[in-house]
Amino acid sequence: MKPPPFDYHAPRSLGEALDALAEAGEHGKVLAGGQSLIPMLNMRLAAPAHLVDINRLSELATLDVGPDGVRVGALARHAQVERSERVAAVQPLLREALRLVAHPVIRNRGTVVGSLAHADPAAELPAVLALLGGSVRLARPGVTRDVPAADFFVGPLESAVESGELAVSAFFPALLPRSGTAFREVARRHGDYALAGIAALVRLDDDLRITSATVACVSVGPVPVVVDVTAACGHRPPATADWASAAWAVQDRVDPETDIHATADYRRHLTGVLAEQALRDAAREATGA
Ligand SMILES: Cc1cc2nc3c(=O)[nH]c(=O)nc-3n(C[C@H](O)[C@H](O)[C@H](O)COP(=O)(O)OP(=O)(O)OC[C@H]3O[C@@H](n4cnc5c(N)ncnc54)[C@H](O)[C@@H]3O)c2cc1C
Repeated sequence: MKPPPFDYHAPRSLGEALDALAEAGEHGKVLAGGQSLIPMLNMRLAAPAHLVDINRLSELATLDVGPDGVRVGALARHAQVERSERVAAVQPLLREALRLVAHPVIRNRGTVVGSLAHADPAAELPAVLALLGGSVRLARPGVTRDVPAADFFVGPLESAVESGELAVSAFFPALLPRSGTAFREVARRHGDYALAGIAALVRLDDDLRITSATVACVSVGPVPVVVDVTAACGHRPPATADWASAAWAVQDRVDPETDIHATADYRRHLTGVLAEQALRDAAREATGA
């Protein structure tokens, strides 16, 4: 199918893009990598009257890496972030998760910020942002606001981006010392959206005891489901922590739905299995083993 008719805008600067979006209001949509939006237009699941293409805004194709974390501009492609050694050194979970996103050809076009704005609960990057406690910077003419991940994902395919706003960047906090992360998922084929997935973060103190253990679950709720399992792990060294109890705690907290790909029970079961694996991996990384 062909998309419904729309007016196409190709701004040359951020200011022009913000003006075009403000003018279009609720009838406008941002076109970034187009990997989700174009299929939705072709299937007539979206019918914006105005499409504001940000692909000429090279000022948004940025990756700012510092000791505090990584700020990813709205036009940084998945592949650019995935291949950056500086990003991997500061926050390795980004690379690990991006390798599970679709296929290389899609990662060459798709953008990290676009994936966040799209807010698909089956996508990896929203879970990463939610787990790490990152944020998304939104702009409209003369106004900029930072929205924490906990408030950013509102529902399936629904984010805090309002009509007339552009998500200009996203911030992913750095991995702290004595911390480890991991991403585990099960998909029918590599590159498919996951039936279930887990991003995990484990932090240790100077005596290498667990001070916090958290997961973010993919594909088992309307938004990424963040579960703190520190109490279930028991403030012990990773080798004696009760990872099975932690996994049960995660499984208990999710409320997946049955669809054509998997039953709710199977997704819940997968969530527990993957949570235990990801937590163990993250703890291993935290100990430097
Ligand atoms: C075959 C296939 C398999 C895929 N598999 C996966 C997968 O396994 N995991 C996964 O996470 N993703 C997957 N994707 C989606 C892919 O990662 C997309 O790149 C991503 O979801 C959207 O990024 P984009 O830049 O292409 O956004 P677009 O498609 O351009 O936009 C998506 C939505 O976000 C909005 N938007 C985009 N950028 C902004 C912005 N800066 N400000 C405000 N709104 C914005 C758009 O208006 C639109 O509503 C897959 C896609 C395909 C085609």
